[in-house]
Amino acid sequence: MDGSFTPHGKHLIAGEWVAGESTFTSDPASGPSFDFAIGTVDLVNQACQSAEEAFWAYGYTSREERSHFLNTIADEIETRADAITLIGTSETGLPKSRLVGERGRTTSQLRLFASHILKGEYLDIRHDAALPDRQPAPRPDMRMMMRPIGPVAVFGASNFPLAFSTAGGDTASALAAGCPVVVKGHSAHPGTGEIIAEAIHSAIKKCGMPAGTFSLIQGGNRLVGQAIVQHPLIKAVGFTGSLSGGRALFDLCAQRPEPIPFFGELGSVNPMFLLPEALTARAAEIGAGWASSLTMGAGQFCTNPGIAVVPKSPEGDAFVSAAQSALEETDAQIMLTEGIAKAYHDGKAHFSGHNAVKSLLTTESSGRYALPNLYETDVEAYLQDHTLSEEVFGPLALVIRVSGTDEMLMLARGFTGQLTATIHMDASDAPLARQLLPILERKAGRLLVNGFPTGVEVCDSMVHGGPYPASTNFGATSVGTLSIRRFLRPVCYQGIPTDVLPADLD
Ligand code: NAP
Repeated sequence: MDGSFTPHGKHLIAGEWVAGESTFTSDPASGPSFDFAIGTVDLVNQACQSAEEAFWAYGYTSREERSHFLNTIADEIETRADAITLIGTSETGLPKSRLVGERGRTTSQLRLFASHILKGEYLDIRHDAALPDRQPAPRPDMRMMMRPIGPVAVFGASNFPLAFSTAGGDTASALAAGCPVVVKGHSAHPGTGEIIAEAIHSAIKKCGMPAGTFSLIQGGNRLVGQAIVQHPLIKAVGFTGSLSGGRALFDLCAQRPEPIPFFGELGSVNPMFLLPEALTARAAEIGAGWASSLTMGAGQFCTNPGIAVVPKSPEGDAFVSAAQSALEETDAQIMLTEGIAKAYHDGKAHFSGHNAVKSLLTTESSGRYALPNLYETDVEAYLQDHTLSEEVFGPLALVIRVSGTDEMLMLARGFTGQLTATIHMDASDAPLARQLLPILERKAGRLLVNGFPTGVEVCDSMVHGGPYPASTNFGATSVGTLSIRRFLRPVCYQGIPTDVLPADLD
């Protein structure tokens, strides 16, 4: 397949490409825009009905069949590699290298789940053999296994058009579990969504899976997302996006006659704690590293380390000044959407105009472009005004100066839920690190030492989640093999003859 791709703009509903009466026009960072069908409540209903029908076959496929299906989706994505990069770079403004890397991450994520389900450990099978002679009462044979929950809705992320979108981690883990998926396409990259849906569609046909195993409904109307999460046949939702959008959809899930889990990944400022000995040894190096992590991808990472907790000391000053110098050298970068750029400029205006915040670096950028901005405040001001703790999506950072260990620990206790928390330390900082760690464990899903949180490894031990608002369900992760757990539920089979039990239990 060559690198050209012209989107036809249709939805994929139960194996059919469906046009719409009304359309919206994409708003790419560069290159031509295209028209896409606007989703409707009727199409949502069709997609959910066909997902439910598909579940009766797909939910009972063998692990080997689903593993082959996931690998085939990865193959089909690779077949379209150049075209995906072309439309993805055009729509998002992300560089080619990023799209290429993210495609590799997406296909390796699908392949990881393909091999994970073959091992069978995710089924968490338990068996308590019958005790017919037990007194005072006999015990029947009891077995437990995790089962797929049914159709799952997925809302892709604007900032990861591949790895967290149409065939991203939510879709891969749901399909691996045995759950059909209905994706609400992100309006920031509808063409990228369409070509990935083509890859999944092709894999469905090649593997003989039911047509309703996967549907993509383009957006263009907020009623589409609302109808999906409220549809009675949808049993769980995976979401990555804004706190306000996620919270609105989460509330709709909770208000349903049958409430369902909403696995939302919302906002995080990912605090970084600079301990004194690490600063003495390498303040400038950490400061420069922080600036580079903050500006990667125009700061549009959910794991962007937006807050540095820094002692009031000459070494702390050296860290801040190194970060500031490196940020001053950063060029303007294009953001994912006009809306995200506007939210960034609004966030910057809020910090710049705040009377308890000192501007260390204030930049002027307009339209869809962003330059870094750096601010400083103290613990009292931070803890008194919750608006300072809200994520500003983009290359904006806040330094919070602390006057000693007690203030650092008090501030740590004041943070809301985070995806990550980082400590920069040397060996002699260990006593303070030992005090911080139990606090940070209660705040974040992933704790790091002497690193930057922006890279999220896809592997067995990764946790990408955390207490609210980092995620709406702190028992879950949206990255790594444990993410399959979101789309399974335990079923106990009591006294059931082995020739009647599901295949994995007999
Ligand atoms: P978003 O505005 O929350 O949108 C995410 C998805 O949810 C889109 O498909 C959107 O539909 C839909 N949606 C949002 N609110 C809805 C509502 N009230 N009813 C129905 N559907 C709704 O997020 P975004 O556009 O991806 O990015 C905007 C902001 O999200 C960023 O500025 C950033 O703050 C945050 N963000 C956070 C992360 C993270 O990982 N924590 C990642 C990306 C973005 P439409 O396509 O129709 O808009």
